[in-house]
Amino acid sequence: MLVGVDWGGTKIEAMAIGDDGQTTTRLREMTPRSDYEGCLATIASLVSRVEDEAGASGTVGVGIPGSVDPRTGIAKGASSTWLNGKPVAEDLRRTLKREVRIANDADCFAVSEAVDGAGAGHHVVFAVILGSGAGAGIAVAGKAHHGPNNGAGEWGHNPLPKPDVTEIPGPACYCGRYGCLERWISGWSFARDYHTHASIDLGPSQPLAPAEIIERMRQGDRLAKLVWSRYVDRVARGLSLVVNILDPDILVFGGGMANVAELYDDLPGKLAEQTFSPCFYTPLTPALHGDSSGVRGAAWLWKE
Ligand SMILES: [Zn+2]
Repeated sequence: MLVGVDWGGTKIEAMAIGDDGQTTTRLREMTPRSDYEGCLATIASLVSRVEDEAGASGTVGVGIPGSVDPRTGIAKGASSTWLNGKPVAEDLRRTLKREVRIANDADCFAVSEAVDGAGAGHHVVFAVILGSGAGAGIAVAGKAHHGPNNGAGEWGHNPLPKPDVTEIPGPACYCGRYGCLERWISGWSFARDYHTHASIDLGPSQPLAPAEIIERMRQGDRLAKLVWSRYVDRVARGLSLVVNILDPDILVFGGGMANVAELYDDLPGKLAEQTFSPCFYTPLTPALHGDSSGVRGAAWLWKE
């Protein structure tokens, strides 16, 4: 049996997948934010409960919102910045009393979609998350590609390519850099762009959600259309580097912005304009497993 844990900034979820590939149990708890020991205890409790319900013990894979140093097992690059510097690999091994495989949550997403999701049958899957943050994971032949620094897929912390004068230096990122892609193409960044230019005061306590701005765009709101066009252009610029270097067999999209149907109409043309190759045949598709991909992919980390 495979047990997956998605250690997210908002919730921690555990899932058991039986030998037949079917989900047996799935449980979730709110993340005790900024409470590292509390998170470890929550993970231990969730794993124990899914194993009790399944009546078996399993291997455990954990997806985290960052990665671990492959030599020391210490967390790095996590958007939940309080996780950085913690000996996550050692602590999870001790807490769960077994070897634990750990991967970036976007890598888990990529694996889940590559194994039996939207990317099934494709050799190199580049999975893009356009949600509250923005990032990516790479799966090759159904396995996460990590690299010697566990840094593969850290697409969101590259600078926005071909910035115009208004895009320099760009907004500050939690990683300490400026103008990271994540700060331009997350759903939050899309909403921020709209609010920055909206003439009405929307108030800090009730900002419009990205989905509401998309609805305004569909109703003909000119600013929403402009902001959407600029958003798609930025996503295209960001992905053009990926296509130029890796030329993945498919691009799979997850996160809230991946639910916007217009993305699949508007992005391919803009991306084709940005890539070096004059031909562009890469399929772009929404993820199949949605919110479940993180926890499913964590479980698949032990699939041999
Ligand atoms: Zn950054």
